[in-house]
Amino acid sequence: MTLSLTEPLPLRQLSPADTRARITELKRVLGRRLVILGHHYQVDEVIEHADMIGDSFKLARFAADRKDAEFIVFAGVHFMAESADILTGPDQTVILPDLSAGCSMADMANVDQVETAFAALRSDQVMPITYMNSSAAIKAFCGRHGGAVCTSSNAEKLVKWSLSERPRMLFLPDQHLGRNICHLKLGIPLSEMALWDPHRLPEENLRAGCDRAKIILWKGHCSVHTKFLPAHVDQVRARDPSIKVIVHPECYLEVVQKSDAYGSTEKLIQLVEQAAPGASFAIGTEINLVSRIAKAHPDKKVVSLSGINCLCATMYRIDAPHLLWTLENLAQGVVVNPIRVDEQTAAYARLALERMLSLI
Ligand code: SF4
Repeated sequence: MTLSLTEPLPLRQLSPADTRARITELKRVLGRRLVILGHHYQVDEVIEHADMIGDSFKLARFAADRKDAEFIVFAGVHFMAESADILTGPDQTVILPDLSAGCSMADMANVDQVETAFAALRSDQVMPITYMNSSAAIKAFCGRHGGAVCTSSNAEKLVKWSLSERPRMLFLPDQHLGRNICHLKLGIPLSEMALWDPHRLPEENLRAGCDRAKIILWKGHCSVHTKFLPAHVDQVRARDPSIKVIVHPECYLEVVQKSDAYGSTEKLIQLVEQAAPGASFAIGTEINLVSRIAKAHPDKKVVSLSGINCLCATMYRIDAPHLLWTLENLAQGVVVNPIRVDEQTAAYARLALERMLSLI
């Protein structure tokens, strides 16, 4: 039986200790049939039960490698669960404990808008490349039109490949990652980039430079990473001149330019791990990850780049009661909130992912 629900109301009445104990017990009961994946931005009360912690692509590949696992519970957001479903086998079911855990960035590009943009651009000249943080439909669009997926750690390689194949590129859906990689890694001048705003008419976007730009950036952003501002960098440096500022490339160009280093979540973790005791860092990424890095390195000073808590509010919806509710149902043979990508979309999305894999 499968159900699509969002609220584990009765389970909210359990204490955190009882919730933890019950999840641990259900994990034991379900054994190797179950895998729990925890994204870096997930809350600690869920992360403590994860079989693997990582970024979205690492987690999807882990699920695909665990062929004996019948149920993949993805403690992340919707597009991540879709990616896991695309890469896992037909006998595996991917579950999102709360269906309202979406990603505001992924939601900023829907496939109808992208079809309209692509038709208005001279599409034989333009390669579509999408960031992992996009819906399965957008990944499939890229696969169908010769393009590929990229992650924040391999975007440079994928952009280079794209420009060796076609003279122009449409980068979806995060304008900041696209701009940062093209400008800072590849030296492409900002004057060769234009922004495609899906809420404007195609003619307006073309007139605003998209008709000739080498790099067409989709007007999408991460609501978490765009909270970090250049002034935050100045403030932390004024308080501690020795501090290293390290940020995610979903931040504004001006923030990345002021930082000491930037990179994917995995790279940010590594930079702190490799630093000498006593080093201090201000990190521009989601607060749950920053707090976890700080806890793991008591010999170093690790703070958030911003004084305000930059929290991924949608990821936050998956909490321990939702995880418990999912497992209680699984133990009774009920699959709640399965994420299933239709076969045609999955096939083209897989093609876009395979193109990425062949290039890294
Ligand atoms: S941190 Fe930003 S890009 Fe990542 S899941 Fe949350 S809203 Fe989406």
